[in-house]
Amino acid sequence: MTSRSALRRLSLLLFVLPALLSPALSRAEFLAGIAFRVVTPDPLLPVSGGIGPSKPTLKKEGDLTVRAMVVSDGVTKVAFVSADFLGFPSALGNRARAKVKGIPPENILIGATHTHSAPDAYGFPDGKGGTAADLKYLDSVVERMAEAINEAATQLRPATLKIATGEAKGKIAFNYYADRLYDPRCHVLQALGSDGKPFATLVNYAIHPEVLGSDRGICSPDLIGPLYQRLEEKGAGIGIFMNSAQGGMVTADNRGTDGKSARTWEECQRIGHLLADEALRIVDDAPVQKEPKLHCEARPLTFPVDSKELRAVMAASPLTLGPKNATNITTQFNLVNLGNAQILSIPGEALPNIGYYLKRNMRGEHNLLFGLTNDAFGYILTRVDWSSFKTYSYVSRTCLGEKTGEVLIEEALRFVAEAPAPEKLAASR
Ligand SMILES: [Zn+2]
Repeated sequence: MTSRSALRRLSLLLFVLPALLSPALSRAEFLAGIAFRVVTPDPLLPVSGGIGPSKPTLKKEGDLTVRAMVVSDGVTKVAFVSADFLGFPSALGNRARAKVKGIPPENILIGATHTHSAPDAYGFPDGKGGTAADLKYLDSVVERMAEAINEAATQLRPATLKIATGEAKGKIAFNYYADRLYDPRCHVLQALGSDGKPFATLVNYAIHPEVLGSDRGICSPDLIGPLYQRLEEKGAGIGIFMNSAQGGMVTADNRGTDGKSARTWEECQRIGHLLADEALRIVDDAPVQKEPKLHCEARPLTFPVDSKELRAVMAASPLTLGPKNATNITTQFNLVNLGNAQILSIPGEALPNIGYYLKRNMRGEHNLLFGLTNDAFGYILTRVDWSSFKTYSYVSRTCLGEKTGEVLIEEALRFVAEAPAPEKLAASR
């Protein structure tokens, strides 16, 4: 009996020992990595701020980048990707996903910062039967995006996580249609190395980076470039920005005392730096989550396509944005639980009231919406807003149709209800 139980103890030890010796294989250990690539076209290309012809450029301010933050619990890997473009359609995103090793395509969330000063990634009609989209340039962007994701994944290292939500104070954003109808909450995810120092900081906030706009002759990440620069200077590591529910019409507050908009690079710097400072203030005293749980799900999300304008864009684009004459369009819809946060992707520009409603019904202690993510199908309005105020005529025209908001809300609530809830920290503290 004695020798048998000793044997059992030995075999138990042999079973447990490898797990103790290789912490990277243990499910509990949290890993994170981040990488980026510069994608400023050289020579410069025209830039796009929306449907219609692109505008010529004479110079650049800052550099356009594609960035990837990869997180892992040792088993599941998820990539958060951000690209300095107006939108990044899945026609391109799926090509980047196909070049990534070791992360399932459905665990790769690709968002656009929504800068209005980058080359056209849609192939918008130029009104002369062509498009300004440079397919060769877009190929190189796809290539570099995949490189950034692969590099972030190969550089995964043991990490802890800080997650925080707070009101970003100061002159950063406002609603151009109705000053105060915007969500000032800024969410921050920060990965810290074993030395306790941050090496990656994700900022999630709703804003149109259109300080410069598309008609200044400038290629630029707009305020997002200075945001990244400041985060790095302040010791927060590499930054990554994911936009939120910034539709109709949450924009950068570059209003001068004379009532006119300051459309300068200095103003991009002022707003980008202030948002970085606020994000770091908000995350500063957040508790450190040592082994945050990670869960990622994806499902298809289908919208009816009623808008003539958006149908024409899809039909004319050389990028195969969807089936020709499509009556509906489908994209990837993601839900991620990370520590005590829940993240939901939105494939477009949801109005801020939709953002408030979704966040209120999500199940994290921090609820993040990644807007313009996995696709950007234009504005997302509820049916009571759609084609209502004269002010909403532009956002209604560039919305897939009257049902878009309700489809998103219904599918989001179902997704949240059917997925597991993220862990809670508040109760245990
Ligand atoms: Zn927009």
